[in-house]
Amino acid sequence: MNPGTQPNPHRCPICGHHGLEQPPRSPAGGGSFEICVCCGFQFGVDDDDRGLDPATARERWIAGGARWFSRSTPPPPGWDARRQLEAAGLAPTPGAPATGPKRDRGATPS
Ligand SMILES: [Zn+2]
Repeated sequence: MNPGTQPNPHRCPICGHHGLEQPPRSPAGGGSFEICVCCGFQFGVDDDDRGLDPATARERWIAGGARWFSRSTPPPPGWDARRQLEAAGLAPTPGAPATGPKRDRGATPS
């Protein structure tokens, strides 16, 4: 029940949370240095300085339990990490119903 709460317009490319105040990267390519309240990824630091690519960062976040990162900003009511990932098309698990375009299917079993 937060009638005045508007989602921030920028979506985190790591976790899919629609809550970044700034675009993760500027048009010039620099990181925003904003920390995603959901997954804790800091753009311009975790990627540029630590060399984490979004897929790896996402895997780590999920492997760690996909927990909400921020202690000062609570998650939205009913927040669900998996639903958020699926809504953003970032869910790592295959087998989802064909509700969206899927370009790659990951590794081909041999
Ligand atoms: Zn995030």
